[in-house]
Amino acid sequence: MSIQCPSCNSQRIITRDIARKLGGTTGAIAGGASGMAGAAGGARVGTLVGTIGGPLGMTLGGLAGAIIGGLVGSAAGGAAGAKLGEEIDNKVLDNFQCANCGHCFRQQD
Ligand SMILES: [Zn+2]
Repeated sequence: MSIQCPSCNSQRIITRDIARKLGGTTGAIAGGASGMAGAAGGARVGTLVGTIGGPLGMTLGGLAGAIIGGLVGSAAGGAAGAKLGEEIDNKVLDNFQCANCGHCFRQQD
């Protein structure tokens, strides 16, 4: 793929990915928050499973459930946010910037 600057025809083009970075971060935070809710559920399940292993098993099970719930939520949210941000970058924002003259433009297709 060779992209040219519409202003000076330079091929030194960089992508800005502003919305993608922002979306990934926002999504990870939002996902982490909803993951916390999932963590409570995960902790409950973990504690239940851990019951087999006695008091220590319950503690470890609850902890593992909470961590997994939080991580999964955060990762899923981050991926969804990044994907959404990528769409915004490509369709709404001028995602390309010329490294030669600084001109910002979006992909023409
Ligand atoms: Zn240029």
